[in-house]
Amino acid sequence: MSKAPRRWAGSAGAILGLALALALLGGVHGARAATDFAAWLDGVRREARAAGISEATLDATLGNVAPLARVIELDRRQPEFTQTFWAYLDKRIDARRVERGRALLREHSTLLQAVQARYGVQPRFLVAFWALESNFGDYTGGFSVINALATLAFDERRGAFFRTQLMDALRIVEDGNIAPEAMQGSWAGAMGQVQFIPSTFLRHAVDFDGDGRRDLWQSLPDIFASAANYLKAVGWNGGQTWGREVRLPDGFDPGLADLKIRKSLADWQRLGVRRIDGRDLPVADMRGAVVLPAGLAGPAFLVYGNFDAILRWNRSILYAIAVGHLADRLVGLPPLQSARPDLEQPLSRAQVAEMQDLLATLGYDPGAPDGVVGGRTRDAIKAFQRRVDLAADGYPTIDLLDALRGRAMANGGQVNKAAD
Ligand code: CA
Repeated sequence: MSKAPRRWAGSAGAILGLALALALLGGVHGARAATDFAAWLDGVRREARAAGISEATLDATLGNVAPLARVIELDRRQPEFTQTFWAYLDKRIDARRVERGRALLREHSTLLQAVQARYGVQPRFLVAFWALESNFGDYTGGFSVINALATLAFDERRGAFFRTQLMDALRIVEDGNIAPEAMQGSWAGAMGQVQFIPSTFLRHAVDFDGDGRRDLWQSLPDIFASAANYLKAVGWNGGQTWGREVRLPDGFDPGLADLKIRKSLADWQRLGVRRIDGRDLPVADMRGAVVLPAGLAGPAFLVYGNFDAILRWNRSILYAIAVGHLADRLVGLPPLQSARPDLEQPLSRAQVAEMQDLLATLGYDPGAPDGVVGGRTRDAIKAFQRRVDLAADGYPTIDLLDALRGRAMANGGQVNKAAD
């Protein structure tokens, strides 16, 4: 599900790449030489053999693998700025993509309806996932999946996880689904037009066109059916949508905007939540949660059970909103109605790390000061906001950083218990 530039290691490039990769690996974990990789690969072959992978498959897949420097580089990469809501959405949903998606929805309607009849996932969502994962199959990643996975499995950072993925990738080849040289994907081993990692492929990919192979690279029947089969397995409800943009009443308690807080539509209606055009919420026996992806000042969404299924696919809230909103646009629903800020100010990693340091100094628990906003940091921000009578939406902004600086200065840098 990650985009990565096309890279094929030719002979000279491969040797240079190997040296660089080993240097990078060595820099993190101490020197690991080419001989270590060869010995490690022998171990992989033994394990695969014991699991029933044939000698022919092992030769065809592992015969020429070597660590790829670019894969390690991409794995170590850290974004300089936090992702902002509108920038994220604009990058993934524009008029051209919506138009093309609508045309493809029409073009493949017979197939998509057959998939819906079998798995219960509405066509607009399948096309939306397809758009976000590979731009409708245009871009499936240019790495040899086996080689990328071998690189990450040899690396110690997440070696155990990727070793399992590598074994599953060998099984996929062994079962005749794809020729090893055609098994391309992202730097992290996400494959085909809906970017399944090998373990997801083994568990959820289906042969919908009945040719005996599960082909997520070329067969649209297999691609749509596999995505639908996965969504069905993680609880998709084909009778419901994903959620909707809503309008919150003045004075809405942002503490209620939490995926863990589920209420019936009738309860949200009583709390003053309305459709974005001001009309009442639908009367339906459904539960939902309010999500504020850009804090209280940004758009608000009421999300239903299918939102959780999208989060099982990719646990980013922004991704899940993008899938849902694009699906809506494909069937003619309007763009988001909330006013855009004149300027979205992304925070840098350094600013987030400073925020985390200040929160810790003031006695809150934001987790490690890693410059990444996770659940603990959000909770610490909420606690601070409550303490100083700000709307507690847990959303980090430049203004919040300034407030934290001011508070820390007023305290003379003294550690202060949050409970005081
Ligand atoms: Ca097939």
